[in-house]
Amino acid sequence: MISMEFPSLKSWFKGADNYPFIIAGPCSAESEEQVLTIADYLKTTGNVNLFRAGVWKPRTRPGTFSGVGVKALKWLQRVQSEYNLRVTVEVASPKHVEACLKYGIDVLWIGARTVSNPFSVEELSEALRGVDIPVLIKNPLSPDIDLWQGAIERIFAVGVKRIAAVHRGFSPFERTLYRNMPKWEIPIELRQRIRNLPVICDPSHISGRADFVPEIAQKALDLTMSGLMIEVHPNPSEALSDSAQQLNFDQFSSLMSTLIIRKSTIDDKGFLNQLEELRNQIDSIDFQLIELVASRMNISEKMGEYKFKNNVAVLQMERWMEILRTRTEHGTLRDLEPAFIERMMTLLHQESIRIQTAILNNLKTNKDHWSEE
Ligand code: PEP
Ligand code: MN
Repeated sequence: MISMEFPSLKSWFKGADNYPFIIAGPCSAESEEQVLTIADYLKTTGNVNLFRAGVWKPRTRPGTFSGVGVKALKWLQRVQSEYNLRVTVEVASPKHVEACLKYGIDVLWIGARTVSNPFSVEELSEALRGVDIPVLIKNPLSPDIDLWQGAIERIFAVGVKRIAAVHRGFSPFERTLYRNMPKWEIPIELRQRIRNLPVICDPSHISGRADFVPEIAQKALDLTMSGLMIEVHPNPSEALSDSAQQLNFDQFSSLMSTLIIRKSTIDDKGFLNQLEELRNQIDSIDFQLIELVASRMNISEKMGEYKFKNNVAVLQMERWMEILRTRTEHGTLRDLEPAFIERMMTLLHQESIRIQTAILNNLKTNKDHWSEE
């Protein structure tokens, strides 16, 4: 366990003492009118602690909307003065930090791509040395908990104390149900390592689709995360970035009214008991196991088709013996009993054979059918 003392979100600024701590706003500030329309709506909900807007957008591909830049900081000043909302902006370089400080932005956030690069985090931390501003630190793109912890330590080391981690999921290697894999066991472990660190969930970037946002948000609250960061846009389908995942005003209001806040298994410090936390980690890993098994079966299907076209037998003994040998060897390296790995692989293999045989029969029937015509 790491000994770093973090003030709770409640003490970040006046009016931050409700639970959950809600950060909401558009993925990107697009125009002054858009920013003020959203602020006007969010103010009326009474739920929001912090207004978010991306001003410089880190885009995966060139040629896409990359934010309007410094001029949006003036729009955010209007959000502060006309709606009495605190505002947060993503910073990726010392220049961004300098501009945000100049315009009196209340809270900074460091995005997933920036946290992935220790050079950038180091530069940002130098720009923040001795500056008393709260900083949100998103998880890196890859599920590397040390990299996430390292970013928190680097920012903490220059004197920033008001820090919260933001869990926004991890880039999957293949398409999954959600845009980013939640891998809940990682933010749970981060909280185990750094006991009093507030962790906020960003269900918008995990889900990638507006209709998945509520279930992820609820899951985060069930895990007693400290708050939520949610993308809201007056007309998501017209949004210049992340259009599929932003909530419109009705969706945001209905989310706020349906979220269930559970307190039963929480200890007096606001944490789940250890058994609950371990169960949550197991749950998360089981769901990932099922996703992996599903990917394996998809490939089995493709093999079934290939074998049919090339007239290869479904079961090939040599290949199966090799699978057993290499998997039990690998299992041994990870302290797993060979007999257990053998049973597990046999189950997977049987299911794979069943799928391939079904495909073969199906294709055969179709072929007979076609040749009859
Ligand atoms: C964002 O919050 O709009 C954003 C770019 O997030 P992330 O860094 O998590 O991808
Ligand atoms: Mn976004």
